[in-house]
Amino acid sequence: MKQIVILRLGHRPERDKRITTHVGLTARALGAEGMLLASNDIGIVTSIEDVSERWGGNFYVKNDVNWKHEVKKWKDGGGKICHLSMYGINLLEALTEIKRCDKLMIVVGAEKVPPDIYGLADWNLAVGNQPHSEVAALAITLDRIAENDVLKKEFEGAELKIIPSDHGKIVIENKE
Ligand code: SAM
Repeated sequence: MKQIVILRLGHRPERDKRITTHVGLTARALGAEGMLLASNDIGIVTSIEDVSERWGGNFYVKNDVNWKHEVKKWKDGGGKICHLSMYGINLLEALTEIKRCDKLMIVVGAEKVPPDIYGLADWNLAVGNQPHSEVAALAITLDRIAENDVLKKEFEGAELKIIPSDHGKIVIENKE
């Protein structure tokens, strides 16, 4: 199974709380193991880990990381870096190669990313060359690179579980 980690750059606590939370929740739901936050915002950690506690799995958020240090450590450990940017090459062009690697760090920015990341990344990948959203770019990337269907992913140790229903809401609680 591929090990996938998200690196979130440029998060501004006063503006980006909601979108960074959505980056984390999307990453968790669609197969990443954790998110590294290159800013100090403990509230993001608390809210995403609270979801993990109730809905299962082991997704983690690491607050206030030194992103250059994390990129170096990842590369030294044999991992590859894919930076999502509308200026990059089309995701489809690199898909076969990306699917072959076992450890992938996916970098998403907020307003602007440090220019160094373009040189440090193994791939600068565009999910189409139009500006849109880091959440959309991440979701499409995770779906396209997945070995198994991410929509069928199961989460262990959940307190809450949804029973899919064509009408209404059915949620069961695991009381153990
Ligand atoms: N103007 C910003 C820039 O120059 O990077 C774009 C900011 S955009 C709202 C925030 C993040 O969304 C980007 O850093 C990138 O990771 C992601 N993103 C937006 N559009 C994208 C696209 N077409 N392909 C890949 N990633 C994209």
